[in-house]
Amino acid sequence: MKTSVQAGLIALAAILLIPSAPDRRSDVTPPLALWITKEAHGPARSAESQAMVRVLEDGAVSELDEADYLTRVILSEMLPGFGLEAMKAQAVAARTFALRQRAAGKHPEADVCTQSSCCQACCSVEDLRERLGDQFRDAWALAYSAVQQTEGEVLTFGGKLIDATYFSCSGGSTEDAAAVWGTDVPYLRAVESPGEQDAAVFASSVCVSAEAFRQTICTVDSAADFSSGPADWIGQAEQTPGGGVAWIRIGGTEMTGVQLRRLFHLNSTKFTLAWDGTQFVFDVRGYGHRVGMSQYGAQAMAELGFDYRAILLYYYRGVTIIRADE
Ligand SMILES: [Zn+2]
Repeated sequence: MKTSVQAGLIALAAILLIPSAPDRRSDVTPPLALWITKEAHGPARSAESQAMVRVLEDGAVSELDEADYLTRVILSEMLPGFGLEAMKAQAVAARTFALRQRAAGKHPEADVCTQSSCCQACCSVEDLRERLGDQFRDAWALAYSAVQQTEGEVLTFGGKLIDATYFSCSGGSTEDAAAVWGTDVPYLRAVESPGEQDAAVFASSVCVSAEAFRQTICTVDSAADFSSGPADWIGQAEQTPGGGVAWIRIGGTEMTGVQLRRLFHLNSTKFTLAWDGTQFVFDVRGYGHRVGMSQYGAQAMAELGFDYRAILLYYYRGVTIIRADE
């Protein structure tokens, strides 16, 4: 076991408040139970047929077995090397996410699309085989097993499917949904997420010349004042509950962390910004929007012996795990 993981154990032991969370199946509205049952797809389907997912890809809709779809999502959204419990947590999150997209009717002709920027990444088997090479067969078997071992399980809050957002690496703390998207979501709160330090994407930096920095800021705020030297351009800053940047005063104007992440292609909104005498340096922690479940945090918890249910109940506060087809 790695040293940082041992440190994570101590931190987790101190902060983990996992409720026993008995299943509250009565909270589930009847339509939810129907969404993934065989009956929901009509009498033409045989009793042995699996739940199906209509997937929009390159303008065409194909109908995939739910297990195949979720296996492809796991392998598309997670880098190689994650263990079974982390994959099981990912499987439940991805299933919940997909069913919520279907219910929302985002794509009238399909349940989900294959774009990570819209729904969830879902690479073709051919692409996964090419990307994973010799690891493909074992990775597919493990991810498929994760899907089957969590068959039908979804996350609910107040009897409704949750918005099961997830991301790669929190950089030490996840984020309040409100801090990133402006909308408060009771189960998407900032929580500490130790043990991620070994992730390749844990720390990164972006360096920008003074002129490029000024020009970039001016594309969104022409009123910013850069008349003094670069050392004076950066002013007061405020943090989010999850340790990200809420806003920084730049050239006398407030820029949000979300804006700066987009403008300078930062891995996350958890960063510091400083002028080092020759250039501006963004020192960034984590990768992704940092709202919901951290994949590397899930893996760190799994390495400490926590199962997928504990992982899910930690990152999605106050939710219930149910089998929606029972
Ligand atoms: Zn989509």
